[in-house]
Amino acid sequence: MPIKAAVMTAPNKPIEIWDLDDPVIEPGGILVETVASEVCGTDVHLLHGQLAGVPYPIVPGHVSVGKVLEMRDVNTDALGTPLGAGDLVTFYDVHNICGECYFCAVTKQSNRCPSRRVYGITDSAKDGPLGGWAERIYLKPDVRVVKLPDHLSADTVIGGGCGMFTGFGAVERSSITLGDTVVVQGSGAVGLSAAAFAALKGATTVIVIGAPTQRLELAKVLGADEVLSIEADAPDHRNQVVKDLSGGRGADVVIEACGNPKAIPEGLRLVRDGGCYVVVGHYTDAGPIEINPHRHINRAHADIRGQWGTEFSHIVRALTVLAKHHDRLPFERIIGARYGLEEADKALADVESLMVTKAVMEPFR
Ligand SMILES: [Zn+2]
Ligand SMILES: [Zn+2]
Repeated sequence: MPIKAAVMTAPNKPIEIWDLDDPVIEPGGILVETVASEVCGTDVHLLHGQLAGVPYPIVPGHVSVGKVLEMRDVNTDALGTPLGAGDLVTFYDVHNICGECYFCAVTKQSNRCPSRRVYGITDSAKDGPLGGWAERIYLKPDVRVVKLPDHLSADTVIGGGCGMFTGFGAVERSSITLGDTVVVQGSGAVGLSAAAFAALKGATTVIVIGAPTQRLELAKVLGADEVLSIEADAPDHRNQVVKDLSGGRGADVVIEACGNPKAIPEGLRLVRDGGCYVVVGHYTDAGPIEINPHRHINRAHADIRGQWGTEFSHIVRALTVLAKHHDRLPFERIIGARYGLEEADKALADVESLMVTKAVMEPFR
């Protein structure tokens, strides 16, 4: 039976509904029925052609939850947990990691492997249903699949979605330690998740800077002690509040998760001398910004780190933490709206206008 999919045929073109062929399942491959995928900021960037190396036409939707339909010569997930038809799974959207290049084999930074491919982003629709905006997703033999922990719902996992894994990665990349003061710039899914995981990692004061108000309210639910608005609070006021909450020193760690270059000089100002600044929100090129290397970096003895994408460990660990702490991490509340495949254009427009924090794609809606 053909697979109905929402296809991004080229940048800045309306989404088309295509019928894709049912894939031939290779040994080690798994076919899942899509329960939910997501429409995130990256998909808006894809729509506008702002990511390099995208083989349009593509089936967007990188992080997804599915129900196992068919498996060939495989009976466990990537962690050895028994897996069978009907089980709910998610998967690491990055695959085709070579294991042999300089980054894989020497520096152990497979997120920089040049051959890596990503479901919904750098896999073409011509190669099959390799994205979540489709009734079924074909998980190739090299895709690392994880069975959802028993009591975790698809909504909780997809509500966090790629933002949860990226936010987790940013917290891991940072130097956060028990008792730290942490500022998160941005209140989208990445920022909200970073704030939640920072609090769980032992930060005793977590401050989220963002907008609009309902996202900041959600930040408090997820673990922020203080929220500041990029709309209502002036930069000097934000700086003052952070200083007041950190003994006048500034935050031990600042995580940028908003994607606006203007946040960078502000973040460098908010971090204490010798503190750590993680930039994770600039997944696409939003342009340059001026900083002062003497004041912001050298004299400040700043530790500045970038976090590119996620690693499989982030998926596994984030799900493990979520399984334990889902009561205090109600990520399903990040979901702002649900869309069917035919509503993909509207979903993209709603995400672009920041009308919804997390837009969920449900092919069988
Ligand atoms: Zn490699
Ligand atoms: Zn995403």
